[in-house]
Amino acid sequence: MDYAEVAEKNDFISDFIKEDLVNERFGYVCTRFPPEPNGWLHIGHCKAMTIDFSMAARFGGKCNLRFDDTNPEKEDIAYVEAIKRDIKWLGFDWEDREYYASDYYEYLYELAVKIIRRGKAYVDDLSEDEIREYRGTAVDKDNITETPPGRDSPYRNRGIDENLALFERMRLGEFPDGAKTLRAKIDMRHPNLVMRDPVMYRIRRERHYRRGNDWCIYPMYDFQHPLSDAKEGVTHSLCSLEYEIHRPLYEWFIREAEVFPSRQIEFARLNLTYTVLSKRYLLRLVEEGRVSGWDDPRMPTLAGLRRRGYTPEALRDFMARIGVAKTDSMVDIALLEYCLREDLNRRALRVMAVLKPLKLIIENFQAGSAVELDAVNNPEDPSAGTRKIKFTRELWIEEDDFAEIPPSKYHRLYPGNSVRLRYGFIVTCSGFEKDAYGNISAVRALYDPATKGGNAVDNRKVKGTIHWVSAEDALPIEVRIYDHLFAQERPMEVPTGKTLLDGLNPVSLTVIKGALAEPCLASAIAPVADTLLNGTPFYQFERQGYFVRDTEDGTDGRPVFNKTVGLRDTWAKIRGKQ
Ligand code: ATP
Ligand code: MG
Repeated sequence: MDYAEVAEKNDFISDFIKEDLVNERFGYVCTRFPPEPNGWLHIGHCKAMTIDFSMAARFGGKCNLRFDDTNPEKEDIAYVEAIKRDIKWLGFDWEDREYYASDYYEYLYELAVKIIRRGKAYVDDLSEDEIREYRGTAVDKDNITETPPGRDSPYRNRGIDENLALFERMRLGEFPDGAKTLRAKIDMRHPNLVMRDPVMYRIRRERHYRRGNDWCIYPMYDFQHPLSDAKEGVTHSLCSLEYEIHRPLYEWFIREAEVFPSRQIEFARLNLTYTVLSKRYLLRLVEEGRVSGWDDPRMPTLAGLRRRGYTPEALRDFMARIGVAKTDSMVDIALLEYCLREDLNRRALRVMAVLKPLKLIIENFQAGSAVELDAVNNPEDPSAGTRKIKFTRELWIEEDDFAEIPPSKYHRLYPGNSVRLRYGFIVTCSGFEKDAYGNISAVRALYDPATKGGNAVDNRKVKGTIHWVSAEDALPIEVRIYDHLFAQERPMEVPTGKTLLDGLNPVSLTVIKGALAEPCLASAIAPVADTLLNGTPFYQFERQGYFVRDTEDGTDGRPVFNKTVGLRDTWAKIRGKQ
């Protein structure tokens, strides 16, 4: 696929890259996308990936997929598989360039030894808590952040030989977990806390999903990441803005280890309104059962978005529109929905489904007979063809499309009023029935046989058109309607005394079990990762919104349809106001 076009907008990064090529700092371009396999990818990762792959493509380079797997407690092969599936679904191709930081443990160990030999790292006996305390914290004095100097560890001046011996014994498992660390010897008075002798290795007796029990010491991110980039010859290590303060350390390790001079460049993180994009919290939603899983259609994960009915094209369009900025900002989720609607409008098959059915009886149509009507599958795409739908005496219409006493400007069915039945005839309401509780149980109407296809033969003005399905062959379906998972626009801004999860929207899911649809929906398939790019399993339920078949059927065996997004275009309205 051509993601170079996306790169066009990512200008400040490409300016840096161009500069590096012109100055011959690098003779080629190689980027990497470095997910940690401790959760599923979310739409924020889609931004990172889009930038990584598109920058490489723009400069005729390659993008590596590297699993940053140096934290054995949280990582799992199931996450690796989910991540690969989602990247492929988006259409990005890492070819055979699949790497694992856990394959570099020996190499990283050797570089740590090299740094010790240069007198730039030491084994420390302080506990993790003590290290934190010695490092000090930034304090806010009258809105001026001050960082009082940290204190040197009493073990800081161990000799090189002692450090080498101790580090080897750490690796051999001679010390309990947490008893010692290896630290870079930089500057405990450095204004940037990250530079105050950061930990390079810690002891953790934890089975690693790829390396088993080979290792009981694990490298820390800040040490591992630049050196892994260097090992792969990554020229531009593109990452989100929170790594900016880590950049001096990134450069320090590259320099001290005397390896390939990869360059880190930061871009703004994607933040979306009504959405949490932090794996830690997404994991909690899953673990606490607040959602049905990582792929719950309300989740901002790629798998959740896919199951909800998002397309790779819509996500790509969104990424191109937001571009890449140098400062963090909040993107309105309405823009994402706008991109989705634009894409679905082009590709969705139009069908009719009734969510809250009410019986409509055509009094002058003979029971047992039927008229076949032609319906256009997609007015945006003639190649999608037409289908036949059956018009019968008994139909289902939407409860809301009938009113005993019409409110003003109501153009749907009410006694004496006429409406057009989509693709069918003009009908005029001739009466209705109520059940024992006084609820409307059926509506009666007369049809005009001369209006087949919905055309009025005379000059009658018929303002309303409503959707319907035949009671004879309607397919029972379950419909799930979603709202934002979080109720507030900025869920990460948690009010005092509350927790983030208190901000969950209590009505983010509405299940409609008794919906009825055209029979053709029986063959709908769910958008699994492999079929989505080829097939067209997207629907517009006329007048309702866009829907897609869910990956699982309902408890009663009915097919389930997820509402992807409504028809209303709020983004266009927002733009209109500006
Ligand atoms: P979290 O902070 O939610 O746990 P992470 O950033 O630690 O996520 P990684 O798997 O380490 O997750 O991320 C892989 C890459 O994706 C990193 O380069 C990171 O910069 C980038 N990334 C993560 N979240 C976002 C986001 N919201 N916007 C842009 N890039 C992101
Ligand atoms: Mg990370």
